[in-house]
Amino acid sequence: MSKGYNANKERLNDMNGFGKSLGKRAGFKCEWCEGKDALRIWDYKPDASPELETLALLCQNCRGWAEGRKPGTDELHSIRNALWSDVPAISEGAARVLARYKEPWVRDAIEESFIDEKVKAELLK
Ligand SMILES: [Zn+2]
Repeated sequence: MSKGYNANKERLNDMNGFGKSLGKRAGFKCEWCEGKDALRIWDYKPDASPELETLALLCQNCRGWAEGRKPGTDELHSIRNALWSDVPAISEGAARVLARYKEPWVRDAIEESFIDEKVKAELLK
């Protein structure tokens, strides 16, 4: 077994350790769109050690968007409310997906949100 494998496994164990708290926080709904389809833990900062703040419980659709799949324009609206969360994995994570689309309402919504100013500036430049 390589070191990478063990590190990866340890990380997965760490992440799963948060499962219960995440489920509670999320109310067993997707933390971006409130869907209930195939909820799994998504890691906003895969290079840092996992924390409750950097993990989100996401449905299959939203995990796909997080990984770069394109949402339809009307689908984008379903994650708009996530911007108001005080958990970075929820608000910043969703903002990063939204910011890929140059819809005028997206810009406004990100501007109005409470996400970290540095992240905001990066997304709106
Ligand atoms: Zn979702």
